[in-house]
This record gives sequence, structure tokens and C-alpha cells, in this order.
Amino acid sequence: AKKSGRNTFRAYRKGMDELIEKRRALEADIERGLERGEFELYLQPRVGALDGAIVGYEALVRWKHPERGMVQPGDFIPVAEVSGKIIELGEWVLTEACRLAAGFPDNLHISVNVSPVQFRHPQFLDRIESILSMAEVSPHQLELEITESVLIDDDQRARLILGHLKTLGLRIALDDFGTGYSSLSYLSRYPFDVIKIDRSFVSALGTEETADAIVRTIIDLGSGLGMRVVAEGVETVEQAGYLSAAGCDELQGYLLGRPQPVAQVDAEISPTVAA
Ligand code: C2E
Ligand code: CA
Ligand code: CA
Ligand code: CA
Repeated sequence: AKKSGRNTFRAYRKGMDELIEKRRALEADIERGLERGEFELYLQPRVGALDGAIVGYEALVRWKHPERGMVQPGDFIPVAEVSGKIIELGEWVLTEACRLAAGFPDNLHISVNVSPVQFRHPQFLDRIESILSMAEVSPHQLELEITESVLIDDDQRARLILGHLKTLGLRIALDDFGTGYSSLSYLSRYPFDVIKIDRSFVSALGTEETADAIVRTIIDLGSGLGMRVVAEGVETVEQAGYLSAAGCDELQGYLLGRPQPVAQVDAEISPTVAA
């Protein structure tokens, strides 16, 4: 038994070594990718639930890898977070989003996903401020999407930072609402402008009675607290109908538009220029 235990341990160590090696290679690869401009932002529209008018776009990062082709964020963001590379990547995303928003009409915003690792970084506020001051963008055209995990970590610091971001004029969205701990008290204790109902509830609409009730409750709660409520992952006309009837303010999802390259969005915003 002792011997087989040792073999198992050796196999385990070997597996760990391989994993660490793979991670290191990916880290170096991300670094190179940033240097060579291989990352690109795709933009997915968010529309008014009643009139379907575009109110803004969510920036979603893609990696045009020279060998692996188009790599989706699920395949590199987690590694970038573990290695700390997310700090550099996140700053690139923010800078690029500001640059894009600066060229948008004043009534359109871009929302950017902020990793908890970025949020926790001691220089987070400083970096945001300097990126904002370099880009000539009105702060109200930039929205930051954060998740509940950053609120749990360090409540006092989170409140301080969110308060400061608000004084800069940025908008704050609580992303993936309903998936984390979703303490109701978060909603009243932090200055959110927007809550985004997680896709898992939206896709269960009409199939599970509990989903209908949960979605309706989130909408009433958010509206009651003066926040805009956005539903993500809207794929069907039925979902859109239910959500707008229930008082949801904005919709996002494949039904309304897939994430698309910036050039395509530019053509949409100013069709005459593209023609
Ligand atoms: P998320 O913030 O919840 O973003 C929404 C995800 O749902 C996106 O996946 C989007 O393409 C996808 N989606 C939108 N509408 C629909 C729909 O109707 N149906 C379905 N099935 N999916 C839909 P994506 O682009 O693969 O991004 C995945 C996650 O990666 C994001 O989830 C976000 O957590 C993270 N991410 C993406 N870009 C960034 C970034 O620039 N920085 C950070 N820190 N994270 C990012
Ligand atoms: Ca998001
Ligand atoms: Ca989300
Ligand atoms: Ca999500």
C-alpha cells in the first residue's frame, strides 16, 4: 500500500508539474499577445426593452491567436487571473474601451468587465483615473461591471472604491446577479446604477416557475431602488416579451445582437460613413 501510495503521489506531482508548465507557457503567450496586438474587443449591444434602441455595448475581449485562432475569454481569463497577467490585460481592455467610447455619440456607453483580481489591486483606482484622464471620454460613457465576490472580500474597501468611482462620474453595474451570495443588503449598501440578471435565470424563463418569480422579484427590487435592470442572455422573443412586460429596462443577448467586431459596430452607428 505504501508503495502504490508513493506512485500515486509521483503521478500527482507529475500532473502538477505539467499543469504549472502549461500555465507558464500560457502566461508568456499572453504577454507576447499583448505586445503584438493580438487582443481585440468585440461589442455586444444592449437595447431598451420597450423600443429596442441601442443604449450601449458591452466590451468582450477576444484573442486572435496566430496558431490557435480565435480564443474565447473563458479559455484565458482564468489563467490570466491566477498569474496576475489580468492586470495588464485589464488595463489594455479599459484603455481600448475608453478610446472607442470617445468616438461614440454622447448617448452611447461602453461597459467593461472588471476582474475581482483587478479590483483588489492596490493601484486599481489610480490606474482608472490615469486611463480616464488620457482618453478624452466623458466618464458617464463608461460603465464598469463587477461581480459580487469583490463585495464579500473587503466590504469597507469595496464601498470606498465604488464611492470614488461614482464621484469620477462612472457608472457601476453588478454583473451576474443572482449567481453569487446575492445578499439583498448589497443592493442598498452599494451605489449601483445597474444590475444585470444572470443568463441562467433568463434562459429558464417559461420552463421553471421559480425562474419567472425570481426574475420578477429582481426587476421589482432593482427598480424600487432606482437602478436600471438589464437582462443578459436573451435569446427568444418569448423571453424578451416576458422581461419587458415585467418592467425590465434593458435587454442583452443573441436575439438583440451577438458580440461583433468594432468595424461592424461603427458601420451600424454611422451607416453613411460606411456606405
Ligand atoms: P459575462 O460578463 O457574463 O459576459 C456575457 C457572456 O455571455 C459573453 O461571453 C457573451 O458573448 C455571452 N452571451 C451574450 N449573449 C448571449 C446569449 O444570448 N446566449 C448565450 N449563450 N451567451 C450569450 P464571452 O464573450 O465568452 O465572455 C465570457 C466571460 O468572460 C464574461 O462573462 C466575462 O466574465 C469574461 N470576460 C469577457 N471579456 C472580459 C474582459 O475584457 N475582462 C474580464 N475581466 N473578463 C472578461
Ligand atoms: Ca459582463
Ligand atoms: Ca454577466
Ligand atoms: Ca456570466
